[in-house]
Amino acid sequence: MFDALSSKISSAFGSLRNRGKISVGDIENTAAEIRQALLEADVALVVVDQFIEKVRVGAIELLPTLQSGVNQAQAIFELVNTELTEILGGGARRVRYAKNPPTVIMLAGLQGAGKTTLAAKLAKFYKDQGDTPILVASDLQRPNAVNQLQVVGQNVGVPVFAPEPGNGVGDPVKVARDGVAFAKSKLHNLVIVDTAGRLGVDEDLMSEASAIRDAITPNEILFVVDAMIGQDAVRTAEAFRDGVGFDGVVLTKLDGDARGGAALSIAALTGRPIMFISNGEKISEFDIFYPERMASRILGMGDVATLAEQAKKAFDPDTSKKLEDKFIKGEDFTLDDFLEQIEAMSKMGNMGKLLSMLPGAGAMKKQIDNFDESEITRTKSIVQSMTPAERRDHKLLNGSRRARIAAGSGRQVSDVNKLVEKFTAAQKMMKQMRSGKGPALPAGMDFNAGMPKPTQQQPKKKSRSGNPAKRAAENS
Ligand code: GDP
Repeated sequence: MFDALSSKISSAFGSLRNRGKISVGDIENTAAEIRQALLEADVALVVVDQFIEKVRVGAIELLPTLQSGVNQAQAIFELVNTELTEILGGGARRVRYAKNPPTVIMLAGLQGAGKTTLAAKLAKFYKDQGDTPILVASDLQRPNAVNQLQVVGQNVGVPVFAPEPGNGVGDPVKVARDGVAFAKSKLHNLVIVDTAGRLGVDEDLMSEASAIRDAITPNEILFVVDAMIGQDAVRTAEAFRDGVGFDGVVLTKLDGDARGGAALSIAALTGRPIMFISNGEKISEFDIFYPERMASRILGMGDVATLAEQAKKAFDPDTSKKLEDKFIKGEDFTLDDFLEQIEAMSKMGNMGKLLSMLPGAGAMKKQIDNFDESEITRTKSIVQSMTPAERRDHKLLNGSRRARIAAGSGRQVSDVNKLVEKFTAAQKMMKQMRSGKGPALPAGMDFNAGMPKPTQQQPKKKSRSGNPAKRAAENS
């Protein structure tokens, strides 16, 4: 979502770094470029202006304390990073648990913001941490909201308190109150209350949300907002803050290609932290919001911390241990291992999204956009069409076996050939790593066949001067 912003900021810093010694004028120019980029990304004007002023003043103060232009540029970059993190809310804040359980989280926001979807994501997140959440269906307005909550609750294995059918029937305040009482009686330590939104901010919405708030005195009211709605996100947030009040923000639909900057202004404008983000419809597409990681992404430094966490989640410890043991013992990396790695990688989620977390991803945008997700599925189907013996020893794969595998997986023989080539390259890389010569990436990571390879730059031939004296000088 912040690709354009990120690449503009990176290019502003690129020219600053090339400056040699940096002057006040250079700072003014860079500040103006960053200001323009932030405004184009839809970040609210007051937020942009405060931010730019801090950066400008701070950078001018820094200049005389540093000698080399490179150090100056780096110090200014760090200053921008710190200030950007600050706008995004400073440090991450976690949900405050109630002293006497259950902890009650109320979700509020407009219709379609993604509250019901988020309810399930939160429930799963806390369940995975050992909590015992229950969902309460207090959105009795939006058609099908109750049923949707029941379905997503079931998907994540979390009970749903839904005594009313919804679709306009039932008292949402009573459902919320009874839901919390029920949770208490059944010793659930966490209650997540889904409430109704409307299409726009109106009296009915505010009074219903306020009545629910008063009935259940939540420990946390989370305001859920669609990051794609531009400046309306800011206006809605301010209306909710004044009408109902909230403790934290959840940004949804960060996977969209809208500019999204408005949503980033919410923390600065409302003084409430962004606590979670949702970046897709799938349950797994959800994260804690870390201001410093977001700042890092916007500045083109990637988000390696999140990438590493996702890798850790996807690669289960048994598989990793098995691979490590093989590695240490010097055993061969087989197609079975290759398949396991591919499966783990597909568990990590959308490859394009993962790659965009790498530092410098802005510059690889085109390749990332061209990444072919279905390559993973195709590769899996080919390996799965092999016999166990073939997976253990790919050298068995002669022409007729390859033809059989191609037919079995619905692919061409040339696809099977390509996969075997890729696998042997991965195997070679594992061997090199073992001998300490190779790159330190897991072998599966080189399974990046959808990405066009960067064209190799041929070393330029030295010009040969026609002047014998010069030529002699060149040769020497
Ligand atoms: P509610 O009215 O606030 O309860 O909104 P829903 O949870 O029903 O979400 C509205 C629509 O947005 C649904 O189609 C969801 O699948 C979709 N949605 C929710 N979160 C996200 C997200 O992070 N990214 C995308 N692309 N879609 C989302």
